[in-house]
Amino acid sequence: MGKIQKILVANRGEIAIRIFRACTELKIRTVGIYSAEDSGSFHRYKADEAYLVGKGKKPIDAYLDIEGIIAIAKDSGADAIHPGYGFLSENVEFARRCEEEGIVFIGPRSSHLDMFGDKVKARDQAVKAGLPVIPGSGGPVSLLEDVQTFGEQNGYPIIIKAALGGGGRGMRVVRSADETAEAFERAKSEAKAAFGSADVYVEKFLDKPKHIEVQILADTYGNVVHLYERDCSVQRRHQKVVEIAPSITISDELRAEICESAVRLMENAGYINAGTVEFLVDGDNFYFIEVNPRIQVEHTITEMVTGIDIVHSQIHIAEGRSLDDPDTGIPAQDKVPLFGYAIQSRVTTEDPLNQFMPDTGKLMVYRSGGGFGVRLDAGNGFQGAVITPHYDSLLVKVSTWGMTFREAAAKMERNLQEFRIRGIKTNIPFLENVVKHPDFLTGNYNTAFIDETPDLFI
Ligand code: ADP
Repeated sequence: MGKIQKILVANRGEIAIRIFRACTELKIRTVGIYSAEDSGSFHRYKADEAYLVGKGKKPIDAYLDIEGIIAIAKDSGADAIHPGYGFLSENVEFARRCEEEGIVFIGPRSSHLDMFGDKVKARDQAVKAGLPVIPGSGGPVSLLEDVQTFGEQNGYPIIIKAALGGGGRGMRVVRSADETAEAFERAKSEAKAAFGSADVYVEKFLDKPKHIEVQILADTYGNVVHLYERDCSVQRRHQKVVEIAPSITISDELRAEICESAVRLMENAGYINAGTVEFLVDGDNFYFIEVNPRIQVEHTITEMVTGIDIVHSQIHIAEGRSLDDPDTGIPAQDKVPLFGYAIQSRVTTEDPLNQFMPDTGKLMVYRSGGGFGVRLDAGNGFQGAVITPHYDSLLVKVSTWGMTFREAAAKMERNLQEFRIRGIKTNIPFLENVVKHPDFLTGNYNTAFIDETPDLFI
C-alpha cells in the first residue's frame, strides 16, 4: 500500500472529528457518513464530503450498515476506512469486507479482531504468550454447576462475563453461592440480547484492583513498541470516567514488566496497528484482562505525555510504513519520551444528581475552558447544538497536561470550572469533585473509588 489519498471515517462525534483532523494534517481527503438523526451534527460538516448512511435504519444501525458504508467508500473513491471506536471498529465481518474490496481497514487484520473480540480466545492467547491471567473458567461455561464449583473452589466474589462483552456491559459480580443461579441466567440472557451470543465465562472478582492499560503500536513487519501505560481505575459501573497517564502509583519495575508483557502478547499475535492491552493490578501482581484492537477514547493522554500522534501513526502503519521509518515520527522503544502527566475527563450529558440520567435538548450556552496544557476533543460541543437521545452521551473530552500530576489535576479542576453549559445537564460538577479529591490526588484510589466515595456526589 502506498500513500493513502482519501479516508472514510465510519463513525460520528468527537472521534470522527479527531480522525478528520489527523487526515487534514497529513493532506488526506476526508469522507464522512451521517445518519438522518445526525444531519445537523458537527462531524458531518468537518468532513470534506459527507453522505447520508443507513436510510430508514434505526439511529445506531445506520452506523452499522456495512454494505452501505462500503458503497459510499467506493462511490466517493476512498481508498481507506478508519472505524474509530465502538460501532464497527471490532467487527470481523466489516474488516473482512474491506479486505475483500481492496479498501484499507485502518486497524488490525480481521483475524486479530476475531482473536481479541472474544474474551475467552483473547485469554487463551495471553496464556500462550506467558502472561498472568485471573483464575477463571478458562473457557465458556454452560452449566450452573460449573459456576458453583468455581465459586466454591476459588471463593466468592466471582464475576460472570459475556465472552463478546465490551464497554463495561455484560458483567455480573456474584458475591455469594445463593446469588449464582439468578446471576448466571441473567448474564446469559443479557449477553445474548446485547452481544448476540449467550457465551459467558467466570473469573475470580479481584478486590479493588487498579486498571492499568498499555498503548501499543505495531507495524506490518513485526515491529512493536509500547507508549507506556494509562491508569483508568476511576470508573463507574465498570466504565472509565477519568484516566491518567502515566500511573502515579506503580513502581518502575512493575511498569517495565507490564509494558514488556503487553509487547510480548502483541508480538506473539502478529498484531498490526494501534491497540491496547488491559490489565488489573493488585499490589505487585498484574493480570491480563483483554485487548482492545482499535483506537481508544483515552488515547489523548498518551499523546500528551509521549508527543506521539496515535492517529497519524495508525495511518502511517496502514500505508505500510515501518516503525523504523523516521518520517512516521515514531521513535525507537528506548527513545519514546515520557514527559509529565496527563489527565482526561469524559464530560457527558448526564445528570449526576439524578443517577446519571442522560439529558437531551438544545445547548443554549456552550463555553469551554482553555489555556496552556489543555486539549479539547468535542463532538457536538457548540451553542445551538441539539443533543439527541440516540447516541452515546459523551459531549467533550477534556485532557490536561502538567509537569507534575498535581499541576495536571489543578489545570483540570480550573478548566472544568471554566465551562459554562446551559440548557443541558452535564456531569461536570461530579468530575470536579473527582479531580480535587484528596484520594485522587494521592493515588489512593482503585476501581471501587467512585462506588465507595459518596462525597463525590454532593
Ligand atoms: P469491558 O470489555 O466491558 O470494558 P473489561 O474486561 O475490560 O470489560 O473490564 C472492565 C472493568 O471491569 C475493569 O476495568 C474492572 O474495573 C472490572 N473488572 C473486570 N473483571 C474484573 C475482575 N475479575 N475483578 C475485578 N474487577 C473486574
